[in-house]
Amino acid sequence: MATVKKLFPPAIPQQSVAEDVQKVDIANVLSYDRSKVYMSDLEAALFHSFHKEVGALKVIEEGDFDHLVEYINMLHKYFPGTEKVMTYLTSLKQSLRSKRKKLNWNQWHQILNASKEIVPLREKYIGCLSTQPGLREFPCALWQLFHVLVGQANGSNQCFQVLQAMRNYITSFFACVECRTHWQDATTDLSVVNNGELCSLYLWRKHNEVNRRLNGSPTEDPYFPKEQWPTHHMCKRCWNETTMNFNVTEVKKFLHLFYSSSNLSFEYMDDEENKTSLHWSPRKCDEL
Ligand SMILES: Cc1cc2nc3c(=O)[nH]c(=O)nc-3n(C[C@H](O)[C@H](O)[C@H](O)COP(=O)(O)OP(=O)(O)OC[C@H]3O[C@@H](n4cnc5c(N)ncnc54)[C@H](O)[C@@H]3O)c2cc1C
Repeated sequence: MATVKKLFPPAIPQQSVAEDVQKVDIANVLSYDRSKVYMSDLEAALFHSFHKEVGALKVIEEGDFDHLVEYINMLHKYFPGTEKVMTYLTSLKQSLRSKRKKLNWNQWHQILNASKEIVPLREKYIGCLSTQPGLREFPCALWQLFHVLVGQANGSNQCFQVLQAMRNYITSFFACVECRTHWQDATTDLSVVNNGELCSLYLWRKHNEVNRRLNGSPTEDPYFPKEQWPTHHMCKRCWNETTMNFNVTEVKKFLHLFYSSSNLSFEYMDDEENKTSLHWSPRKCDEL
């Protein structure tokens, strides 16, 4: 727990926990729509992963360099971002092409700074906000990012590569070292997705295994318990009412809709262009 807290530091300045807790506007955190995926969270995941995870390494070389290229290529291909963010990702991809399998801290931050002029990404969480400092935020947004990417690639024979790129990203860059080991062990069977099992279901199952393991742990935000997802409240159809096991056919449909581009909310982006192109209206979870 101490490791996890240290590695996922709170976005707001550290003070005594009691003081911090008072400062979090819990009602505000709980006011966001849990049936949506917020683009603000996805962009925050990009920002944090580029600046604080990859950006924490002194040198990025060999396998880590390959994993960074793989991660950015995958984002470039499947991230359902705004035009500016996609231009930004193209620029990162091109910058890496000219490097010879090795980057030091300065070079990587120069690349990031140059790309900042295209789009100033920020770390602003919405759906992944926490009611307690140090919880949720980046790891929450990273899960959502990977679910969205897998959703975009699902059905194509490349979705396996997305899962592979995710595994490699976690191995090389995820700051929580014990999570890296857990995830490597949990995904040794990754090749099963080549045998017909759909990628989104694979990731859903694995994520639920992590939820089960962490249920009741100190990393759990009491207002966002680590339950088997989607909960019965979110999607009644996803559960067999008699056995209270998942109805996988319905879960597949739910995942497809939940992580689709049409369920992305561009609200709270502080970007006039995006604000004016809002086309969504809130829906209840069960309408998904
Ligand atoms: C690959 C990976 C491995 C991790 N391993 C560890 C670990 O070993 N130990 C540790 O302490 N922490 C680990 N973490 C962090 C941990 O899983 C949580 O991300 C973190 O505690 C924040 O939890 P959360 O309540 O915001 O929900 P998260 O589990 O982060 O989920 C984020 C959002 O995804 C959606 N969601 C939840 N479950 C599913 C599902 N099954 N399928 C699809 N969508 C879902 C929900 O909308 C939820 O709010 C790991 C994170 C990642 C990305």
